[in-house]
Amino acid sequence: MVAVSGGKDSVTLLHILAKIEKSFPDVVFCAGTVDEGIRDYRDEALRIAERNCRKLGVDYVVTSFKELFGYELDEIVELIRRRGENGLTPCSYCGVLRRKALNIMARDAGVDKLVTAHNLDDETQTMLLNVVHGDPMRIARSKPVLNVIHPKLVQRVKPLCMVPEKEVVLYAYLKGIEFQCIDCPYARTALRNDIRDMLNRMEHKHAGTLFTVFRSMEKIRPALEAFAEEVKLHDCKLCGEPTVRDICRACEMLQELKVL
Ligand code: SF4
Ligand code: ZN
Repeated sequence: MVAVSGGKDSVTLLHILAKIEKSFPDVVFCAGTVDEGIRDYRDEALRIAERNCRKLGVDYVVTSFKELFGYELDEIVELIRRRGENGLTPCSYCGVLRRKALNIMARDAGVDKLVTAHNLDDETQTMLLNVVHGDPMRIARSKPVLNVIHPKLVQRVKPLCMVPEKEVVLYAYLKGIEFQCIDCPYARTALRNDIRDMLNRMEHKHAGTLFTVFRSMEKIRPALEAFAEEVKLHDCKLCGEPTVRDICRACEMLQELKVL
């Protein structure tokens, strides 16, 4: 299953994999979108994702935060605003809830691989973000092909992880692929933007910086993996999804909002 957001990366990946997949008729290939519930943004993305899937003849499913968690992201953001600053951005909620939603969607579809369209820029930003957040051990856990560590967690694969964002855009334009061009209205709130700006400035001045950072982290990863403690997962006491805690982060966040 390809996780399609409607943006350039995921729609381009969908087109490339749909083409490759024709040579492997035994492989069950489908796509899915998580609708976070972001007004004037996700609705357009859903229409674009659906049109691309229809054009390519790819089975397509949609799940939503509303359906799975009872609230749209816009409603959660409104709640945070009313209750005052808690240090978490819309992206903090979105990231945690979407990770869980994607896994549930893929598992329910019965697939054994969930393909995401993270490109070289995304991956490099994430690596540095982990360092800035003081959690470098995460680098060991966010590989291009994730280890299968629990039967309820669908394996994630990131085939575009070494393709720079500008090359993805170029491919999409050259192939006339329809994708969403507007940014999420909450995007500017994330720390990731500052990391992105910094890396883009570096890349502009010193071409190859993104690859160098990515390669360096790839070299460091085996040492981190050897050093990392084995993650022990058990079922969340509230939702039953795999977690390292008693209650998973998604349930914890929703509880804090008193929206469970
Ligand atoms: Fe979610 Fe933030 Fe991405 Fe918007 S920018 S879709 S809120 S993670
Ligand atoms: Zn839970």
